[in-house]
Amino acid sequence: MHTGRCMCGAVTFEIDGLREDFGACHCEMCRRWTGSAFLGISVPHTDIRFTGLDRVKKLQSSAWAERAWCDACGTGLWYRVTANHRMAEKYEIPIGLLDHSDHLRMTREIFIDCKPACFAYQGEHRLLTRESVMKLYRIDLDDPKVG
Ligand SMILES: [Zn+2]
Ligand SMILES: [Zn+2]
Repeated sequence: MHTGRCMCGAVTFEIDGLREDFGACHCEMCRRWTGSAFLGISVPHTDIRFTGLDRVKKLQSSAWAERAWCDACGTGLWYRVTANHRMAEKYEIPIGLLDHSDHLRMTREIFIDCKPACFAYQGEHRLLTRESVMKLYRIDLDDPKVG
């Protein structure tokens, strides 16, 4: 089981099961939202329990997803697909919120063609461009608010 919390501790969570994979997203919305890249671990909504949900604020950040944060300290808490899609019903939780993350493994970077040239993550993992991600998830490439 993983445990984690926001910076101030008003929001905490527990995640069932042993998860090791996480991905990085370099899309423009994740870049601006996180200030760098979104390093997120996927968790089915049935496997995570939150406390302090009354402190959580949410933004419908695109036609198909929401982003949530702690209203007390501003920590970004999750990205979640809200549209009727096979990615729905999962939370993407920033790995920086976990109390222990040393054992995690980066398996993919998406929107790699949107990554600023000034930094790079090391190690072997899949690199997917914006176009290949869109095809993979069957997202309309013309929607300006994807992310
Ligand atoms: Zn907080
Ligand atoms: Zn993104």
